[in-house]
Amino acid sequence: MFNTNTISRFQQLETPFYYYHLDVLRNTLDACRAASSKHGFHVHYAMKANFNPRVLDMIKAYGFGADCVSGNEVKAAIAHGFGKEKVVFAGVGKSDKEINLALDEDIFCFNAESVQELFVIDELARAKSKVAKIAIRINPNVDAHTHHFITTGLDENKFGINTWQLPEVADALRKCPNLQFLGIHFHIGSQITDMEVYKNLCNRINEIQDWFEDHGFAVKVLNTGGGLGIDYHHPDTNGISDFESYFKVFKQFLNVRPGQEVHFELGRALVGQCATLISRVLYVKNGQKKNFLVLDAGMTELIRPMLYQAYHLIENISRGESEVGSRKSEVGKELTQDLIKYDVVGPICESTDCFQKDVELPESFRGDLIAVRTAGAYGEVMASSYNLRDRVSSVYSGE
Ligand SMILES: *Cc1c(COP(=O)(O)O)cnc(C)c1O
Repeated sequence: MFNTNTISRFQQLETPFYYYHLDVLRNTLDACRAASSKHGFHVHYAMKANFNPRVLDMIKAYGFGADCVSGNEVKAAIAHGFGKEKVVFAGVGKSDKEINLALDEDIFCFNAESVQELFVIDELARAKSKVAKIAIRINPNVDAHTHHFITTGLDENKFGINTWQLPEVADALRKCPNLQFLGIHFHIGSQITDMEVYKNLCNRINEIQDWFEDHGFAVKVLNTGGGLGIDYHHPDTNGISDFESYFKVFKQFLNVRPGQEVHFELGRALVGQCATLISRVLYVKNGQKKNFLVLDAGMTELIRPMLYQAYHLIENISRGESEVGSRKSEVGKELTQDLIKYDVVGPICESTDCFQKDVELPESFRGDLIAVRTAGAYGEVMASSYNLRDRVSSVYSGE
């Protein structure tokens, strides 16, 4: 992934920083657009995954809409040039201020997550003599078979409206003249790699859409959410998610009515592989039981391992080709050096500030450059200033 020119460029730079592979982003967006447009599907980019301005510029240029989860995201999407008619606003706790802002912007749709929220949006829309377009976020109780920290579509999750509350929803919609019902929305979790899960989701959506039609509501939009996973273990050999198979499942199993729109909200699958966190080894601590590599990056730059026990491939790019996965999997590849197990940790004053334990790397030294791969989604956006750290910077390929 990193040629010698890139590595010499990195050596001149202050670490840590996010390195954006803009060509990877472009190839991923190409693949997604080709696979979705074949079926006439609409894709919204889930902006919370990465709102780096260069990333947003490129995604917007592909004609994707924006899926926002805060008022500031709605504002940023529109300021960035995403069309208002392609902005949707989800979130379990939209404040009055955020709802008002979105009403003023005349966005495409609110994805409402509770019955109480319906009444609030109706009231705020009435005060502005507007009609708010609404999709109901429904909790389909489909297990995403992903990490429980990133599952959102089960009865016990805080998101969405449970199906036993649908009669109450229908009642609320009839009582709210300033709401226009557009359709139904789902988002069952993230990093989903099992296509069977999406098939189950389609079956539930079909049932729920029938319910709405039986109760006199025309469903114009079926929004299936996002969640398509990526390969954190093989970023070089499997860098683009299988968009073809993903969209095909919906084509095959979703009962789409004539004139109906099918929407998707992808975040991770679009941006996950387009960035690497680059840091330096500050210190090597050799203990009796453990060896530690102390990096100049930690949970303040990339919190996913600490927050969700997430895996990222870690490479020492100063010590030659060191992708552990490829060493192990590529037959015939000679191992030229012995590997040492290191706990790769950050500098932050928290014991959980560890990227990964027992990472097999070539013997590493102070000053070596360490790459933490597949950091484009939920990486830079979650950076914090805890310990009064400097804001992590961004560097782009091709510059
Ligand atoms: C986060 C989120 C998404 C995107 O999820 P990914 O796993 O990144 O694809 C889509 N829709 C909603 C409502 C979300 O909150």
